[in-house]
Amino acid sequence: MISVVGIGPSREDMTIRALKAIEEADVIIGYKGYIKHIKDLVEGKEVLPKGMGQELLRVELAVRESREGKKVVLVSSGDPGIFGMANVLFQLMGKYEDVEVEVVPGISAVNFAASLLGAPLHDFAVISLSDLLTPLSEIKCKIKKACEGDFVIAFYNPRSKTRKKPFSEAISILQDEKKPSTPVGLVKGKNGGTDVRITSLEKLPTEQIDMSTIIIVGNSMSYVEDGWMVTPRGYMVPYPLHPLAIEFYEKYLAGEGVEGPNLGCEYYPCHYHPQNCTFCYCPFYPCGDPSTGGRWIKEKGVWSCEGCTWIHEDETVECIQAKLPSIVQNIDDLKEKKKELLKLRRECIRGSEC
Ligand code: SF4
Repeated sequence: MISVVGIGPSREDMTIRALKAIEEADVIIGYKGYIKHIKDLVEGKEVLPKGMGQELLRVELAVRESREGKKVVLVSSGDPGIFGMANVLFQLMGKYEDVEVEVVPGISAVNFAASLLGAPLHDFAVISLSDLLTPLSEIKCKIKKACEGDFVIAFYNPRSKTRKKPFSEAISILQDEKKPSTPVGLVKGKNGGTDVRITSLEKLPTEQIDMSTIIIVGNSMSYVEDGWMVTPRGYMVPYPLHPLAIEFYEKYLAGEGVEGPNLGCEYYPCHYHPQNCTFCYCPFYPCGDPSTGGRWIKEKGVWSCEGCTWIHEDETVECIQAKLPSIVQNIDDLKEKKKELLKLRRECIRGSEC
């Protein structure tokens, strides 16, 4: 049996199944740098450390040892299925008839990085910037498509001392396709520890990015709050309707609402001039999603829309007006159809076409 085992990003993050597979193995094969991390676990076993670039040789060795009836562990960093040894193993398995294999998953660098950044991953793409085996044209095309689909994008192997072009090409696509303020999380191995930084596309510290850096670029809704990077999934926050909002929507549903700037309002303009006041009381309140500028007032546990100008933009109002009548027919729908309303909000932020 050959078990290709993901040892995750660090000893503390190894799974129990990975530990057990190593414990039960007769032979351990892997890149010497990774085996060093699990030295104490492999004492007394046959250990065959190999160099970088010898991936195929490692698999051939594993097959040879396994055919002698030994339990073999093929060590992979992170998760074997994400730029790890599972791919190499299965590419060669077609050559052999009598070899039993299993994949023991591990925590990939993208999961590890995400856990240190907060909750940045929601519908995400993982792209390696290594052009050693993949043509640069294919890498660029994938980045462009991921941007068009508004995916969060995690990049592996971004930039080495000699291989800088894929990274600069990637950045130029991201800059063309995403907002300069798009949050970017950087997680990098440093002096045996981990360096975590959250920045934005426009402030990316290019020179500090190397092969050990995992880059997570947010989507159009990602935000940074209290030092965490978050891409909201859109959970519904239960909240009672304010009496003034009820009054406002009674008029709106009766066709008596004010469209465009409400110049007669004593508070006009509460944000900027000329602001669209059609949804003076936001139909999504409280969205609980800071991506458009709202925030919780912690000491009161109240959602504040003070920083959200999105709801007052003509384009936003147009988008909401196109679909709101099919969702809200009476006041109760503002509460009962909140999930549909929040989906409409996402659609109006991101655009309905992908
Ligand atoms: S005004 Fe903006 S922040 Fe407030 S609930 Fe509506 S979308 Fe959210």
